[in-house]
Amino acid sequence: MTVSFKFRASVCAWALASLAPVSAHAQDEQKTPPPYTAPNNQIRFGNTALFRNLIAPATLETQAAGEYAQIIHDAERDKTLLPDTNPLVKRVREIANHEIPFALKWNDRAKNWKWEINVIKSPDERMYCLPGGKIVVYSGLIDKLRLNDNEIGMMIGHEIAHALREHARERLGRQQAAQLGAGGMPQLFGFSNYSSQQPDIGDELLSMRYSPADEIEADVIGSEIASRAGYDPRAAVTLWNKIDSGTRRADAGFIWMHPYGPDRRQDLLKRMPDMMPLYAKALGKTIDQLPNYAGMGRFKKSGR
Ligand SMILES: [Zn+2]
Repeated sequence: MTVSFKFRASVCAWALASLAPVSAHAQDEQKTPPPYTAPNNQIRFGNTALFRNLIAPATLETQAAGEYAQIIHDAERDKTLLPDTNPLVKRVREIANHEIPFALKWNDRAKNWKWEINVIKSPDERMYCLPGGKIVVYSGLIDKLRLNDNEIGMMIGHEIAHALREHARERLGRQQAAQLGAGGMPQLFGFSNYSSQQPDIGDELLSMRYSPADEIEADVIGSEIASRAGYDPRAAVTLWNKIDSGTRRADAGFIWMHPYGPDRRQDLLKRMPDMMPLYAKALGKTIDQLPNYAGMGRFKKSGR
């Protein structure tokens, strides 16, 4: 795929002035997952990812929209863009459209995003939600891993959460800061021509490797969104087990971009008692009335 758009850096002097302390803080943040609380069933994270401030959200969303348009254009040209009438397209869109209303509270800009969902016929086992709400699913992810609707729901929720929490913006901001830092800090001040720097971020946007902290945040928020939309949170466990065994390849498969190991699996299980009531409520049932799923039990909190 040819990536044609360019990234134009937008740098604030105050953000650059705080590069050193931000760097140390951000490294600490990566080691320690953000705190987790669930007051009034609202699951929140106290994440202050200041690297995001190196790139304006509107700038990134515009560039992501350009990238998305190019991907769709290429797929149409190659006759791999599945039509609106395709059953897999209908299935994926129905699940995503159930979830999007529950996603909006996580990002003030999201209510104005022009959400789009497309499926490309491909052996690739991957999907992504670009900044600005453009979702692309490659059919191999669902066909080869034989994902059920609950697993697709958890997958879409996870990817939407990465976009809502602007993990890409933070990752790209870190790279931008590193590139600027390599040029020497004194040069950063008093110069107004940093907008002339135009590193190409197209490939980086599509092959981004998230940090373990990003992954846990996307798991929690994604599961919350999908559970409220009526998808079984226990499916996150079977989903990531399938992705782990199905895409772990030497050439950086999907699981490489979304690092998954025993810690993350434990975290998914640990948060299940908070998710199951949301799922039950979405189905209009009590937790005891919920169906079994993969022999995992109902993760009922004591006293409920
Ligand atoms: Zn992820």
